[in-house]
Amino acid sequence: SLSDRLTATFRSLRGKGRLTEDDINTTVAEIRRALLEADVALPVVREFTAAVRERALSAEVSAALNPGQQIVKIVNAELVEILGGQARDLHFAKRPPTVILLAGLQGAGKTTLAGKLGKWLRDQGHTPLLVASDLQRPNAVTQLQVVGERAGVPVWAPEPGNGVGDPVEVARSGLAHARDKQYSVVVVDTAGRLGVDAELMAQAANIRDAVDPDEILFVLDAMIGQDAVTTAQAFADGVGFTGVVLSKLDGDARGGAALSVAKVTGQPVLFASTGEKLTDFERFHADRMASRILDMGDILTLIEQAERTFDAEQAERMAAKVTGEEDFTLQDFLDQMQQLKKMGSMKKMLGMLPGMGQMREALENFDERDIDRVEAIVHSMTPAERTNPKILNGSRRSRIARGSGTTVAEVNSLMERFDAAKTMMRQMARSGGKGVPGMGAL
Ligand code: GDP
Ligand code: MG
Repeated sequence: SLSDRLTATFRSLRGKGRLTEDDINTTVAEIRRALLEADVALPVVREFTAAVRERALSAEVSAALNPGQQIVKIVNAELVEILGGQARDLHFAKRPPTVILLAGLQGAGKTTLAGKLGKWLRDQGHTPLLVASDLQRPNAVTQLQVVGERAGVPVWAPEPGNGVGDPVEVARSGLAHARDKQYSVVVVDTAGRLGVDAELMAQAANIRDAVDPDEILFVLDAMIGQDAVTTAQAFADGVGFTGVVLSKLDGDARGGAALSVAKVTGQPVLFASTGEKLTDFERFHADRMASRILDMGDILTLIEQAERTFDAEQAERMAAKVTGEEDFTLQDFLDQMQQLKKMGSMKKMLGMLPGMGQMREALENFDERDIDRVEAIVHSMTPAERTNPKILNGSRRSRIARGSGTTVAEVNSLMERFDAAKTMMRQMARSGGKGVPGMGAL
């Protein structure tokens, strides 16, 4: 499995500090294989791996993760983003009824979904009505009626014995009925064909025009594999849709279809269907789907653990410094600066918090290249100098400046700032450890 292969790759990468082009290529090649195995469409795989490579090349090196783990983390984040992140809520009409149109191939799971959605909406306090606009198959209406009964949701269907009937007319009269009886949501079930078909698309488009839906949900069988892209594209062009529902996720499909469709159409997956029962239905979770596609839940868990452990260790160490139990060292100073670099993106937010204006100003004046300089200087010191900077006399300082490619003036300036930070940490220790971590480095 991908997990095994990546674990092996990680072992060979362990202990290296940087993301090299080689590391990235090795890991990206494994990811690429995994995506193809998960039935992600080839053009999507290509574009995706290119994006990941770029992101990995420009990524900051993590202290908590080895390079392989870091790339997987990037891959996962990218997947979750394409899959739509946190699934959005349904768009409800300002003035009810909200109209939801279901579209998709025959057997995709539309009628089953109508029941599931009906129950789900009802459980949330809505009053849904299901509308049987699939008049293609003889038993389609009956199937929806059975599903509706089980869900406890009424079904609008053409009068029996009225001939074949017109699905557009049924949809229109269903909506009028819903307005009349004040149903809050109308779910319109439509016909599908076994393959993409012009007549079917035209019918769905006509129903769409008759009811002006707030949501058009494209229902996609997750087992469809490589065909997902062409099918989704055909529905996007022929009917258009605002969201995707993936069905049959209880099967063993790895769910590559989700990625293909989300990437090609740019529409989010909103729900997942995971069985034939009415309750086998949930909001779509992009993070779960990402690890399913990559087939590496355990690796993601390991990555999370590694980061958590690292954060906890750092926090504990910093707490010991702040309370004065431990000496604040140059290494701590460097760590703090690196934390600040990460916080760079928080500048704006900090400015909006009361009392944080000063902090923001400091961040604004904070030069990121400074960190590289500080790092070079600290690394040019001997361990003894790092733990006890008091011994840094003139000749040591000029040796350090030479070794770090800086000037003595820069070394002096760093030592002044370090002393100031140390004083600040001591003050924070005296005030009971209250203060903003990272402030010392400013
Ligand atoms: P439609 O033609 O799009 O209306 O599809 P149906 O709702 O009739 O579903 C086709 C078949 O797939 C039926 O046998 C359903 O019971 C089954 N089905 C639908 N959704 C799921 C699902 O999430 N999991 C499984 N295992 N079966 C499903
Ligand atoms: Mg159906």
